[in-house]
Amino acid sequence: MSDDDFTVQSGTGHSAGFADGLDVLLIDGRLGPAASGATFATSNPATEEVLGVAADATAADMDAAITAARAAFDEGSWAGDRAFRARCLRQLRDALVAHGDEMRALTTAEVGAPAFLTAGPQYDFPVEDLGYYADLTEDYEGWVQDLGEKETFGIRSRRTLHREPAGVVAAITPWNFPHQIQIAKVGPALAAGCTVVLKPAPDTPWCASSLARIVATETDIPAGVFNVVTSSDHQLGAMLSRDPRVDIVSFTGSTSTGRSVMRDASEHLTKVFLELGGKSAFVVLDDADLSAAASLAAFSACTHAGQGCAITTRLLVPRHLHDEVVEIAAATMGALAAGDPTDPGTICGPVISERQRDRILGYLDLAIEEGGSFAVGGGRSERFDKGWFIDPTLVVGLDNSARVAQEEIFGPVLTVIDYDGDDEAVSIANDSPYGLSGAVCSGDEERALAVAARIRTGTMGVNGGIWYSADVPFGGYKQSGIGREMGVSGFEEYLESKSIAVAR
Ligand code: NAD
Repeated sequence: MSDDDFTVQSGTGHSAGFADGLDVLLIDGRLGPAASGATFATSNPATEEVLGVAADATAADMDAAITAARAAFDEGSWAGDRAFRARCLRQLRDALVAHGDEMRALTTAEVGAPAFLTAGPQYDFPVEDLGYYADLTEDYEGWVQDLGEKETFGIRSRRTLHREPAGVVAAITPWNFPHQIQIAKVGPALAAGCTVVLKPAPDTPWCASSLARIVATETDIPAGVFNVVTSSDHQLGAMLSRDPRVDIVSFTGSTSTGRSVMRDASEHLTKVFLELGGKSAFVVLDDADLSAAASLAAFSACTHAGQGCAITTRLLVPRHLHDEVVEIAAATMGALAAGDPTDPGTICGPVISERQRDRILGYLDLAIEEGGSFAVGGGRSERFDKGWFIDPTLVVGLDNSARVAQEEIFGPVLTVIDYDGDDEAVSIANDSPYGLSGAVCSGDEERALAVAARIRTGTMGVNGGIWYSADVPFGGYKQSGIGREMGVSGFEEYLESKSIAVAR
Protein backbone atom coordinates (compact mmCIF):
# COMPACT_ATOMS: atom_id res chain seq x y z
CA MET A 1 0.00 0.00 0.00
CA SER A 2 1.42 3.38 -0.92
CA ASP A 3 0.93 6.53 1.10
CA ASP A 4 -1.20 7.88 -1.73
CA ASP A 5 -3.65 5.04 -1.26
CA PHE A 6 -4.14 6.10 2.29
CA THR A 7 -4.94 9.75 2.12
CA VAL A 8 -8.02 11.53 3.32
CA GLN A 9 -8.09 15.28 3.25
CA SER A 10 -8.34 16.97 6.59
CA GLY A 11 -11.50 18.72 5.43
CA THR A 12 -14.77 16.94 4.92
CA GLY A 13 -13.77 15.75 1.43
CA HIS A 14 -11.79 12.65 0.53
CA SER A 15 -9.50 11.40 -2.17
CA ALA A 16 -10.50 8.69 -4.60
CA GLY A 17 -7.43 6.64 -3.65
CA PHE A 18 -8.50 6.40 -0.08
CA ALA A 19 -12.07 5.41 -0.91
CA ASP A 20 -10.81 2.79 -3.33
CA GLY A 21 -8.78 1.08 -0.67
CA LEU A 22 -11.37 0.46 2.01
CA ASP A 23 -14.08 -1.62 0.31
CA VAL A 24 -12.54 -4.82 1.64
CA LEU A 25 -13.07 -7.52 4.21
CA LEU A 26 -10.18 -9.19 6.01
CA ILE A 27 -10.70 -12.95 6.12
CA ASP A 28 -7.95 -15.47 6.77
CA GLY A 29 -5.23 -12.91 6.08
CA ARG A 30 -6.67 -11.82 2.73
CA LEU A 31 -8.06 -8.37 1.98
CA GLY A 32 -10.80 -8.67 -0.60
CA PRO A 33 -14.34 -7.84 -1.62
CA ALA A 34 -17.44 -9.54 -0.28
CA ALA A 35 -18.04 -12.92 -1.96
CA SER A 36 -21.12 -11.47 -3.66
CA GLY A 37 -19.21 -8.37 -4.77
CA ALA A 38 -21.82 -6.19 -3.04
CA THR A 39 -20.96 -2.88 -1.43
CA PHE A 40 -22.76 -0.25 0.62
CA ALA A 41 -22.17 3.47 1.03
CA THR A 42 -20.59 5.22 3.97
CA SER A 43 -21.34 8.91 4.44
CA ASN A 44 -20.11 12.02 6.17
CA PRO A 45 -22.69 13.04 8.79
CA ALA A 46 -21.55 16.67 8.67
CA THR A 47 -22.10 17.07 4.92
CA GLU A 48 -24.33 14.09 3.93
CA GLU A 49 -21.74 13.46 1.21
CA VAL A 50 -21.08 9.81 0.30
CA LEU A 51 -17.44 9.16 1.15
CA GLY A 52 -17.27 5.86 -0.72
CA VAL A 53 -18.26 2.24 -0.29
CA ALA A 54 -17.53 -0.65 2.03
CA ALA A 55 -17.72 -4.37 1.30
CA ASP A 56 -21.21 -5.65 2.10
CA ALA A 57 -20.62 -9.11 3.53
CA THR A 58 -23.23 -11.82 3.63
CA ALA A 59 -23.54 -15.01 5.66
CA ALA A 60 -21.00 -16.83 3.45
CA ASP A 61 -18.30 -14.26 4.26
CA MET A 62 -19.10 -14.38 7.97
CA ASP A 63 -18.95 -18.16 7.92
CA ALA A 64 -15.51 -18.00 6.27
CA ALA A 65 -14.30 -15.50 8.87
CA ILE A 66 -15.42 -17.67 11.79
CA THR A 67 -13.83 -20.73 10.15
CA ALA A 68 -10.55 -18.82 9.77
CA ALA A 69 -10.58 -17.55 13.36
CA ARG A 70 -11.36 -21.03 14.69
CA ALA A 71 -8.55 -22.65 12.68
CA ALA A 72 -6.05 -19.94 13.67
CA PHE A 73 -6.89 -20.52 17.31
CA ASP A 74 -6.97 -24.33 17.24
CA GLU A 75 -4.13 -25.01 14.84
CA GLY A 76 -1.89 -21.93 14.86
CA SER A 77 0.82 -20.90 17.31
CA TRP A 78 -0.79 -17.55 18.25
CA ALA A 79 -2.45 -18.78 21.46
CA GLY A 80 0.81 -20.18 22.78
CA ASP A 81 3.34 -17.49 21.89
CA ARG A 82 3.14 -14.52 24.23
CA ALA A 83 6.34 -12.81 23.12
CA PHE A 84 5.20 -12.86 19.49
CA ARG A 85 1.79 -11.47 20.44
CA ALA A 86 3.35 -8.60 22.36
CA ARG A 87 5.59 -7.82 19.40
CA CYS A 88 2.66 -7.83 16.96
CA LEU A 89 0.58 -5.55 19.18
CA ARG A 90 3.42 -3.03 19.42
CA GLN A 91 3.88 -3.27 15.66
CA LEU A 92 0.18 -2.51 15.21
CA ARG A 93 0.35 0.43 17.62
CA ASP A 94 3.35 1.87 15.76
CA ALA A 95 1.63 1.47 12.37
CA LEU A 96 -1.53 3.16 13.66
CA VAL A 97 0.58 6.00 15.08
CA ALA A 98 2.33 6.37 11.71
CA HIS A 99 -1.06 6.63 9.96
CA GLY A 100 -2.39 9.03 12.59
CA ASP A 101 -3.09 11.97 10.30
CA GLU A 102 -5.10 9.94 7.78
CA MET A 103 -6.92 7.95 10.45
CA ARG A 104 -7.87 11.01 12.48
CA ALA A 105 -9.21 12.70 9.34
CA LEU A 106 -11.09 9.53 8.38
CA THR A 107 -12.67 9.40 11.84
CA THR A 108 -13.83 12.99 11.65
CA ALA A 109 -15.21 12.41 8.14
CA GLU A 110 -17.00 9.11 8.80
CA VAL A 111 -18.05 9.44 12.45
CA GLY A 112 -18.47 13.23 12.57
CA ALA A 113 -16.14 13.12 15.57
CA PRO A 114 -14.83 16.59 16.47
CA ALA A 115 -11.15 16.85 15.57
CA PHE A 116 -10.14 17.55 19.18
CA LEU A 117 -11.51 14.15 20.22
CA THR A 118 -9.44 12.31 17.62
CA ALA A 119 -6.38 13.46 19.56
CA GLY A 120 -8.02 11.71 22.53
CA PRO A 121 -10.48 8.86 22.93
CA GLN A 122 -11.56 8.84 19.27
CA TYR A 123 -8.11 7.71 18.10
CA ASP A 124 -4.86 8.60 19.85
CA PHE A 125 -5.73 7.24 23.31
CA PRO A 126 -6.88 3.77 22.16
CA VAL A 127 -3.91 3.46 19.80
CA GLU A 128 -1.61 4.18 22.73
CA ASP A 129 -3.58 1.66 24.82
CA LEU A 130 -2.30 -1.14 22.57
CA GLY A 131 1.04 -0.72 24.34
CA TYR A 132 -0.66 -1.43 27.66
CA TYR A 133 -2.15 -4.67 26.29
CA ALA A 134 1.23 -5.71 24.85
CA ASP A 135 2.81 -5.14 28.28
CA LEU A 136 0.05 -7.15 29.95
CA THR A 137 0.80 -10.14 27.72
CA GLU A 138 4.33 -10.16 29.09
CA ASP A 139 3.80 -8.97 32.65
CA TYR A 140 0.47 -10.46 33.72
CA GLU A 141 1.08 -12.37 36.92
CA GLY A 142 -1.95 -14.61 36.65
CA TRP A 143 -0.78 -16.89 33.80
CA VAL A 144 0.21 -19.49 36.40
CA GLN A 145 -0.61 -19.09 40.08
CA ASP A 146 0.63 -21.39 42.81
CA LEU A 147 -2.25 -22.29 45.15
CA GLY A 148 -0.01 -24.33 47.45
CA GLU A 149 -0.40 -27.89 48.69
CA LYS A 150 -3.35 -29.40 50.48
CA GLU A 151 -4.31 -32.85 51.74
CA THR A 152 -7.77 -34.11 50.78
CA PHE A 153 -8.97 -37.71 51.40
CA GLY A 154 -5.41 -38.53 52.43
CA ILE A 155 -3.93 -37.38 49.14
CA ARG A 156 -1.57 -34.43 49.22
CA SER A 157 -1.82 -32.35 46.06
CA ARG A 158 0.02 -29.40 44.69
CA ARG A 159 -2.53 -27.05 43.12
CA THR A 160 -1.91 -24.50 40.40
CA LEU A 161 -4.26 -22.16 38.60
CA HIS A 162 -3.54 -21.65 34.88
CA ARG A 163 -5.02 -18.92 32.72
CA GLU A 164 -5.48 -19.73 29.04
CA PRO A 165 -6.84 -17.79 26.08
CA ALA A 166 -10.59 -18.34 25.82
CA GLY A 167 -10.74 -18.99 22.06
CA VAL A 168 -12.57 -17.24 19.25
CA VAL A 169 -13.92 -13.79 20.11
CA ALA A 170 -16.77 -12.13 18.22
CA ALA A 171 -16.28 -8.36 18.64
CA ILE A 172 -19.47 -6.49 17.73
CA THR A 173 -19.14 -2.72 17.90
CA PRO A 174 -21.21 0.48 17.57
CA TRP A 175 -20.50 3.66 15.61
CA ASN A 176 -20.01 6.31 18.27
CA PHE A 177 -16.37 5.73 19.31
CA PRO A 178 -15.37 3.08 16.74
CA HIS A 179 -11.59 2.99 17.28
CA GLN A 180 -11.83 3.16 21.05
CA ILE A 181 -14.34 0.34 21.24
CA GLN A 182 -12.65 -1.81 18.59
CA ILE A 183 -9.28 -1.56 20.30
CA ALA A 184 -10.73 -2.03 23.80
CA LYS A 185 -11.92 -5.45 22.54
CA VAL A 186 -9.35 -6.46 19.96
CA GLY A 187 -6.33 -5.32 22.05
CA PRO A 188 -6.94 -7.45 25.16
CA ALA A 189 -8.42 -10.34 23.14
CA LEU A 190 -5.29 -10.61 20.97
CA ALA A 191 -3.04 -10.01 23.98
CA ALA A 192 -4.77 -12.89 25.77
CA GLY A 193 -4.11 -15.19 22.79
CA CYS A 194 -7.62 -15.27 21.37
CA THR A 195 -8.47 -14.88 17.70
CA VAL A 196 -11.07 -12.33 16.62
CA VAL A 197 -13.86 -11.66 14.16
CA LEU A 198 -14.71 -7.94 14.26
CA LYS A 199 -18.13 -6.85 13.01
CA PRO A 200 -18.42 -3.05 13.09
CA ALA A 201 -21.59 -0.98 12.89
CA PRO A 202 -22.86 -0.34 9.34
CA ASP A 203 -22.59 3.43 9.95
CA THR A 204 -18.78 3.38 10.32
CA PRO A 205 -17.34 0.52 8.25
CA TRP A 206 -14.19 2.37 7.18
CA CYS A 207 -13.02 2.78 10.78
CA ALA A 208 -12.83 -1.03 10.78
CA SER A 209 -11.66 -1.71 7.23
CA SER A 210 -8.79 0.78 7.65
CA LEU A 211 -7.70 -1.17 10.73
CA ALA A 212 -8.00 -4.38 8.71
CA ARG A 213 -5.77 -2.95 6.01
CA ILE A 214 -3.11 -1.87 8.44
CA VAL A 215 -3.14 -5.24 10.22
CA ALA A 216 -2.89 -7.12 6.91
CA THR A 217 -0.24 -4.99 5.27
CA GLU A 218 1.87 -3.68 8.12
CA THR A 219 1.94 -6.28 10.89
CA ASP A 220 2.96 -9.91 11.29
CA ILE A 221 -0.37 -10.87 12.85
CA PRO A 222 -0.93 -14.30 11.25
CA ALA A 223 -3.72 -15.12 8.82
CA GLY A 224 -7.01 -15.87 10.55
CA VAL A 225 -6.05 -14.31 13.89
CA PHE A 226 -7.85 -11.04 13.13
CA ASN A 227 -10.76 -10.91 10.70
CA VAL A 228 -12.98 -7.95 9.82
CA VAL A 229 -16.42 -8.35 8.29
CA THR A 230 -18.26 -5.14 7.34
CA SER A 231 -21.91 -5.43 6.39
CA SER A 232 -25.08 -3.38 6.08
CA ASP A 233 -26.92 -6.35 7.59
CA HIS A 234 -27.22 -6.36 11.40
CA GLN A 235 -28.09 -10.04 11.22
CA LEU A 236 -24.44 -10.90 10.64
CA GLY A 237 -23.96 -9.86 14.28
CA ALA A 238 -26.71 -12.27 15.29
CA MET A 239 -24.98 -14.98 13.27
CA LEU A 240 -21.87 -14.52 15.40
CA SER A 241 -23.85 -14.74 18.64
CA ARG A 242 -25.45 -18.01 17.53
CA ASP A 243 -22.39 -19.79 16.14
CA PRO A 244 -21.07 -22.60 18.36
CA ARG A 245 -17.53 -22.02 17.05
CA VAL A 246 -17.47 -18.63 18.83
CA ASP A 247 -16.31 -18.80 22.46
CA ILE A 248 -17.05 -15.22 23.58
CA VAL A 249 -19.32 -12.54 22.21
CA SER A 250 -17.89 -9.18 23.21
CA PHE A 251 -20.63 -6.70 22.41
CA THR A 252 -20.97 -2.94 22.74
CA GLY A 253 -24.19 -1.30 21.69
CA SER A 254 -27.69 -0.57 22.83
CA THR A 255 -29.34 -2.39 25.71
CA SER A 256 -32.08 -3.77 23.45
CA THR A 257 -29.54 -5.30 21.05
CA GLY A 258 -27.57 -6.57 24.07
CA ARG A 259 -30.66 -8.51 25.17
CA SER A 260 -30.93 -10.03 21.74
CA VAL A 261 -27.23 -11.00 21.77
CA MET A 262 -27.67 -12.69 25.15
CA ARG A 263 -30.73 -14.59 23.94
CA ASP A 264 -28.92 -15.78 20.81
CA ALA A 265 -25.78 -16.72 22.72
CA SER A 266 -27.82 -18.73 25.21
CA GLU A 267 -28.42 -21.35 22.50
CA HIS A 268 -24.87 -22.67 22.95
CA LEU A 269 -24.25 -21.06 26.36
CA THR A 270 -21.62 -18.87 24.74
CA LYS A 271 -20.08 -16.43 27.19
CA VAL A 272 -21.26 -12.85 26.64
CA PHE A 273 -19.57 -9.66 27.58
CA LEU A 274 -21.88 -6.65 27.25
CA GLU A 275 -21.23 -2.90 27.30
CA LEU A 276 -24.61 -1.23 26.91
CA GLY A 277 -26.45 2.03 27.35
CA GLY A 278 -26.44 4.62 30.10
CA LYS A 279 -28.37 7.54 31.60
CA SER A 280 -25.77 8.73 34.06
CA ALA A 281 -26.27 11.39 36.72
CA PHE A 282 -24.08 14.43 37.36
CA VAL A 283 -24.75 15.37 41.00
CA VAL A 284 -24.01 18.94 42.05
CA LEU A 285 -23.92 19.06 45.86
CA ASP A 286 -24.92 22.30 47.58
CA ASP A 287 -21.36 23.18 48.63
CA ALA A 288 -19.90 22.72 45.11
CA ASP A 289 -18.24 25.43 43.04
CA LEU A 290 -21.41 25.95 41.01
CA SER A 291 -19.74 27.63 38.09
CA ALA A 292 -17.16 24.86 37.63
CA ALA A 293 -19.68 22.05 38.18
CA ALA A 294 -22.43 23.41 35.91
CA SER A 295 -19.98 24.26 33.12
CA LEU A 296 -18.39 20.81 33.31
CA ALA A 297 -21.76 19.07 33.18
CA ALA A 298 -22.79 21.18 30.18
CA PHE A 299 -19.49 20.63 28.38
CA SER A 300 -19.68 16.90 28.88
CA ALA A 301 -23.29 16.70 27.58
CA CYS A 302 -22.26 18.51 24.37
CA THR A 303 -19.11 16.49 23.68
CA HIS A 304 -19.44 14.49 20.44
CA ALA A 305 -23.06 15.68 20.34
CA GLY A 306 -23.82 13.59 23.42
CA GLN A 307 -23.12 10.33 21.59
CA GLY A 308 -21.27 8.64 24.42
CA CYS A 309 -22.71 5.90 26.57
CA ALA A 310 -20.91 7.20 29.67
CA ILE A 311 -21.86 10.87 29.21
CA THR A 312 -23.76 12.29 32.18
CA THR A 313 -27.17 13.26 30.79
CA ARG A 314 -29.11 13.98 34.00
CA LEU A 315 -28.01 17.06 35.95
CA LEU A 316 -29.10 16.73 39.59
CA VAL A 317 -29.19 20.11 41.35
CA PRO A 318 -30.20 21.23 44.86
CA ARG A 319 -33.68 22.72 44.44
CA HIS A 320 -32.75 26.09 45.98
CA LEU A 321 -29.80 26.45 43.58
CA HIS A 322 -31.77 25.47 40.46
CA ASP A 323 -31.86 28.92 38.81
CA GLU A 324 -28.19 29.62 39.38
CA VAL A 325 -27.06 26.24 37.99
CA VAL A 326 -29.40 26.41 35.00
CA GLU A 327 -28.18 29.88 34.08
CA ILE A 328 -24.53 28.75 34.00
CA ALA A 329 -25.23 25.45 32.23
CA ALA A 330 -27.45 27.13 29.60
CA ALA A 331 -24.81 29.79 28.91
CA THR A 332 -22.14 27.10 28.45
CA MET A 333 -24.33 25.00 26.16
CA GLY A 334 -25.30 28.08 24.16
CA ALA A 335 -21.63 28.84 23.63
CA LEU A 336 -20.96 25.26 22.48
CA ALA A 337 -23.35 25.40 19.51
CA ALA A 338 -23.02 22.53 17.02
CA GLY A 339 -20.13 23.14 14.63
CA ASP A 340 -18.03 21.73 11.80
CA PRO A 341 -16.19 18.74 13.28
CA THR A 342 -13.03 19.52 11.29
CA ASP A 343 -12.74 22.83 13.20
CA PRO A 344 -10.34 22.19 16.11
CA GLY A 345 -12.51 24.37 18.35
CA THR A 346 -15.70 22.31 17.83
CA ILE A 347 -16.92 20.31 20.82
CA CYS A 348 -20.37 19.36 19.50
CA GLY A 349 -20.32 17.98 15.95
CA PRO A 350 -23.16 16.32 14.03
CA VAL A 351 -24.99 13.20 15.14
CA ILE A 352 -24.31 10.10 13.09
CA SER A 353 -27.33 9.88 10.79
CA GLU A 354 -30.67 11.30 9.76
CA ARG A 355 -32.37 8.45 11.60
CA GLN A 356 -30.52 9.30 14.81
CA ARG A 357 -31.21 13.04 14.32
CA ASP A 358 -34.94 12.34 13.96
CA ARG A 359 -34.91 10.05 17.00
CA ILE A 360 -33.41 12.86 19.10
CA LEU A 361 -35.90 15.41 17.75
CA GLY A 362 -38.65 12.98 18.77
CA TYR A 363 -37.31 13.06 22.34
CA LEU A 364 -37.30 16.88 22.26
CA ASP A 365 -40.99 16.84 21.26
CA LEU A 366 -41.59 14.36 24.06
CA ALA A 367 -39.88 16.67 26.57
CA ILE A 368 -42.48 19.36 25.76
CA GLU A 369 -45.36 16.84 25.84
CA GLU A 370 -44.20 15.69 29.27
CA GLY A 371 -44.40 19.28 30.57
CA GLY A 372 -40.75 20.35 30.21
CA SER A 373 -39.23 23.36 28.49
CA PHE A 374 -35.84 24.32 27.08
CA ALA A 375 -33.45 26.69 28.84
CA VAL A 376 -31.39 26.64 25.65
CA GLY A 377 -31.54 24.79 22.32
CA GLY A 378 -34.44 22.50 21.53
CA GLY A 379 -34.09 21.56 17.88
CA ARG A 380 -32.09 21.38 14.68
CA SER A 381 -29.19 23.73 14.29
CA GLU A 382 -30.04 26.59 11.95
CA ARG A 383 -26.38 27.12 11.13
CA PHE A 384 -26.13 24.30 8.56
CA ASP A 385 -28.07 23.51 5.38
CA LYS A 386 -26.66 20.01 5.30
CA GLY A 387 -25.69 17.49 7.92
CA TRP A 388 -27.29 16.07 11.05
CA PHE A 389 -26.78 18.88 13.56
CA ILE A 390 -28.77 19.46 16.73
CA ASP A 391 -28.32 22.42 19.05
CA PRO A 392 -27.15 21.54 22.57
CA THR A 393 -30.32 21.46 24.63
CA LEU A 394 -30.97 21.94 28.34
CA VAL A 395 -34.33 20.52 29.45
CA VAL A 396 -35.93 21.89 32.62
CA GLY A 397 -39.23 21.43 34.42
CA LEU A 398 -39.28 17.62 34.52
CA ASP A 399 -38.74 15.14 37.31
CA ASN A 400 -36.87 11.86 37.16
CA SER A 401 -39.95 9.85 36.21
CA ALA A 402 -40.19 11.53 32.78
CA ARG A 403 -39.25 9.30 29.87
CA VAL A 404 -36.76 11.96 28.81
CA ALA A 405 -35.04 11.43 32.19
CA GLN A 406 -35.22 7.64 32.04
CA GLU A 407 -34.38 6.73 28.44
CA GLU A 408 -31.11 7.05 26.60
CA ILE A 409 -31.37 9.83 23.99
CA PHE A 410 -27.81 9.74 22.59
CA GLY A 411 -27.82 13.40 21.58
CA PRO A 412 -26.63 16.72 23.08
CA VAL A 413 -29.49 16.82 25.58
CA LEU A 414 -29.09 17.41 29.32
CA THR A 415 -32.08 17.14 31.65
CA VAL A 416 -32.08 19.10 34.91
CA ILE A 417 -33.68 17.39 37.92
CA ASP A 418 -34.09 19.10 41.31
CA TYR A 419 -33.53 17.37 44.64
CA ASP A 420 -33.61 18.11 48.37
CA GLY A 421 -30.68 16.73 50.36
CA ASP A 422 -27.93 14.22 49.58
CA ASP A 423 -30.13 11.18 50.27
CA GLU A 424 -32.62 12.22 47.63
CA ALA A 425 -29.80 12.97 45.17
CA VAL A 426 -28.49 9.41 45.61
CA SER A 427 -31.95 7.95 45.32
CA ILE A 428 -32.67 9.84 42.07
CA ALA A 429 -29.26 8.94 40.63
CA ASN A 430 -30.04 5.27 41.33
CA ASP A 431 -33.59 5.49 40.00
CA SER A 432 -32.59 4.36 36.51
CA PRO A 433 -32.49 1.05 34.68
CA TYR A 434 -28.87 1.90 33.86
CA GLY A 435 -25.71 2.13 35.97
CA LEU A 436 -22.83 2.97 33.68
CA SER A 437 -21.19 6.14 34.94
CA GLY A 438 -21.69 9.32 36.93
CA ALA A 439 -20.14 12.37 38.49
CA VAL A 440 -20.37 14.30 41.72
CA CYS A 441 -19.03 17.74 42.67
CA SER A 442 -18.65 19.11 46.19
CA GLY A 443 -16.42 21.48 48.13
CA ASP A 444 -15.84 18.58 50.53
CA GLU A 445 -14.09 15.63 48.89
CA GLU A 446 -15.10 13.19 51.65
CA ARG A 447 -18.74 14.11 51.21
CA ALA A 448 -18.46 13.67 47.43
CA LEU A 449 -16.80 10.28 47.91
CA ALA A 450 -19.57 9.20 50.29
CA VAL A 451 -22.17 10.06 47.64
CA ALA A 452 -20.09 8.33 44.90
CA ALA A 453 -19.95 5.17 47.03
CA ARG A 454 -23.75 5.01 47.20
CA ILE A 455 -24.40 5.36 43.46
CA ARG A 456 -24.76 1.98 41.74
CA THR A 457 -22.65 2.57 38.69
CA GLY A 458 -19.42 1.28 37.12
CA THR A 459 -17.43 4.55 37.03
CA MET A 460 -17.66 7.87 38.91
CA GLY A 461 -15.79 11.13 38.41
CA VAL A 462 -15.36 13.21 41.57
CA ASN A 463 -14.81 16.97 41.23
CA GLY A 464 -13.87 16.60 37.56
CA GLY A 465 -11.69 13.47 37.95
CA ILE A 466 -11.23 11.50 34.69
CA TRP A 467 -11.33 7.71 34.99
CA TYR A 468 -10.68 6.92 31.31
CA SER A 469 -7.40 5.00 30.96
CA ALA A 470 -6.28 1.63 29.58
CA ASP A 471 -5.60 0.36 33.10
CA VAL A 472 -9.00 1.37 34.52
CA PRO A 473 -11.88 -1.12 34.17
CA PHE A 474 -15.00 0.30 32.54
CA GLY A 475 -18.48 -1.19 32.47
CA GLY A 476 -21.90 -1.09 33.95
CA TYR A 477 -24.23 -2.18 36.71
CA LYS A 478 -27.83 -3.20 36.01
CA GLN A 479 -28.89 -2.87 32.35
CA SER A 480 -25.66 -1.10 31.39
CA GLY A 481 -23.90 -4.38 30.92
CA ILE A 482 -22.12 -7.48 32.13
CA GLY A 483 -18.38 -7.61 32.73
CA ARG A 484 -15.64 -5.00 32.54
CA GLU A 485 -13.63 -3.72 29.60
CA MET A 486 -10.02 -2.44 29.90
CA GLY A 487 -7.66 -2.86 32.83
CA VAL A 488 -6.63 -6.27 34.13
CA SER A 489 -10.31 -7.21 34.60
CA GLY A 490 -10.95 -6.47 30.92
CA PHE A 491 -7.99 -8.64 29.91
CA GLU A 492 -9.21 -11.48 32.12
CA GLU A 493 -12.58 -11.47 30.31
CA TYR A 494 -10.68 -13.13 27.43
CA LEU A 495 -9.11 -15.86 29.57
CA GLU A 496 -10.37 -19.18 30.81
CA SER A 497 -8.98 -20.60 34.03
CA LYS A 498 -7.90 -24.17 34.59
CA SER A 499 -7.07 -25.60 38.01
CA ILE A 500 -4.58 -28.48 38.07
CA ALA A 501 -3.83 -30.69 41.06
CA VAL A 502 -0.73 -32.93 41.06
CA ALA A 503 -0.45 -35.68 43.68
CA ARG A 504 2.83 -35.40 45.63
P1 NAD B 1 -26.75 -1.09 18.20
O1 NAD B 1 -27.08 -1.92 19.37
O2 NAD B 1 -27.83 -0.73 17.24
O3 NAD B 1 -25.63 -1.79 17.32
C1 NAD B 1 -24.38 -2.18 17.85
C2 NAD B 1 -23.79 -3.28 16.98
O4 NAD B 1 -24.61 -4.45 17.08
C3 NAD B 1 -23.69 -2.96 15.49
O5 NAD B 1 -22.51 -3.52 14.98
C4 NAD B 1 -24.91 -3.68 14.93
O6 NAD B 1 -24.77 -4.02 13.56
C5 NAD B 1 -24.92 -4.92 15.77
N1 NAD B 1 -26.22 -5.59 15.86
C6 NAD B 1 -27.45 -5.09 15.60
N2 NAD B 1 -28.39 -6.03 15.82
C7 NAD B 1 -27.75 -7.14 16.25
C8 NAD B 1 -28.16 -8.42 16.67
N3 NAD B 1 -29.45 -8.76 16.72
N4 NAD B 1 -27.22 -9.29 17.08
C9 NAD B 1 -25.91 -8.96 17.09
N5 NAD B 1 -25.45 -7.77 16.67
C10 NAD B 1 -26.36 -6.86 16.27
O7 NAD B 1 -26.03 0.21 18.79
P2 NAD B 1 -25.56 1.49 18.00
O8 NAD B 1 -26.77 2.27 17.61
O9 NAD B 1 -24.57 1.12 16.95
O10 NAD B 1 -24.75 2.28 19.17
C11 NAD B 1 -25.39 3.09 20.10
C12 NAD B 1 -25.64 2.35 21.39
O11 NAD B 1 -24.43 1.79 21.89
C13 NAD B 1 -26.11 3.25 22.52
O12 NAD B 1 -27.19 2.62 23.19
C14 NAD B 1 -24.92 3.36 23.45
O13 NAD B 1 -25.22 3.62 24.79
C15 NAD B 1 -24.28 2.05 23.27
N6 NAD B 1 -22.86 2.13 23.63
C16 NAD B 1 -22.45 1.56 24.80
C17 NAD B 1 -21.13 1.66 25.18
C18 NAD B 1 -20.64 1.05 26.45
O14 NAD B 1 -19.46 0.83 26.56
N7 NAD B 1 -21.48 0.76 27.41
C19 NAD B 1 -20.22 2.31 24.37
C20 NAD B 1 -20.67 2.89 23.20
C21 NAD B 1 -22.00 2.78 22.83
